Amino acid sequence: MTVAAIVAAGGQGRRLGESRPKQFVKIGDRTLLERSVDAFVTHPAIDEVVVVLPPGAPLPPSLSGRAKPVTAVPGGERRQDSVAAGFAAVTPSVDLIVIHDAARPFVDPATIDRTIEAARESGAAIAALPASDTVKEAGRQKPATVSRTLPRDEIWLAQTPQAFARHVLADAIRIGQSGVAGTDEASLAEQAGHAVRLVEGDARNIKVTTAADLAHARAIVADERKRAVTAGGTPVDAQWRIGTGYDSHRLVEGRRLLLGGVLIPYSMGLKGHSDGDALCHAITDAVLGAAALGDIGRHFPDTDERWRGANSIVLLEQAVALVHGAGFLVANVDAVVIAERPALAPHADRIRERLAQALRVNVSEVSVKGKTNEGMGETGRGEGIAVHAVALLRRADV
Ligand code: MG
Repeated sequence: MTVAAIVAAGGQGRRLGESRPKQFVKIGDRTLLERSVDAFVTHPAIDEVVVVLPPGAPLPPSLSGRAKPVTAVPGGERRQDSVAAGFAAVTPSVDLIVIHDAARPFVDPATIDRTIEAARESGAAIAALPASDTVKEAGRQKPATVSRTLPRDEIWLAQTPQAFARHVLADAIRIGQSGVAGTDEASLAEQAGHAVRLVEGDARNIKVTTAADLAHARAIVADERKRAVTAGGTPVDAQWRIGTGYDSHRLVEGRRLLLGGVLIPYSMGLKGHSDGDALCHAITDAVLGAAALGDIGRHFPDTDERWRGANSIVLLEQAVALVHGAGFLVANVDAVVIAERPALAPHADRIRERLAQALRVNVSEVSVKGKTNEGMGETGRGEGIAVHAVALLRRADV
């Protein structure tokens, strides 16, 4: 059995109050249309997808080049005209057609499965939810007055997907084209004399129509993101990210000594392509590392003349901007400066203040400690200065 999906996205629905038709409005990382089409492209039972778009609207690039055919066709005046256009584009040998409304971006694979299975047995099936509210019928008179109360246990609220054997959908479309109107394909199939089975829908399979629905949809996506975990079980949206950085430079005569952007009076300075500020470099690497954005050498290579004599506090500011762009803020930074001479302590507070400015945090979030190497090794002999740093980042939107 081969199965095609028709995603109906031909409407101009603007009740959301957005400038675009609602199917092109984003919730989270994808539009309603992309989410709805993805649900069928990724479903193993579906062999091809036809997307009915408003005339002139192109298929979003993310939906082309997929593992199974995705065809776009222009829609018509009414929904049923759009579905007829979609049906005409379905491969003729397809046995069963599933119709879905692009405004229902959260359809789950199990609902699609149930609908297909029931239609395969019975010719037509739709996802629906039993009514939980009591349903009143009223005439058209104003003020609205109840004419009768419907027995709730007999009331179902239709969703999509709606699935049909090819000949059933052909009948429904034929009757629609003969002047009968229907708000969904199932109602046309009923009027053509076909039995339509009800299968259990899903409460999360909401239809996004109003601004309140859109807010609900965005809350569902935010909730999904919070729950999402990587293969290793780590929350995808882990609130905290840690990074480490290290740098060392040789002390030479004839250079100024800059640490954390602060000029330190000393007889020697740090050698380097830039200003040699090892403290800024180690912190820059820690901050970039926490966001998994590479290292200082990648963003500010010492082969690039732009960075000759560069002010390293400016490089740190640029790294912080990169990290902000990736959705993170700096939470705190701690660094150890290993230097036999000069003593760091008298300058530590000025350095912390300058670093805090660059990191866009309060000075209370920046720690800089001086340490000697007890005379051991290169740093112990005063040949250079080494720095270790750690940075903690947090998600900007948490
Ligand atoms: Mg360096």
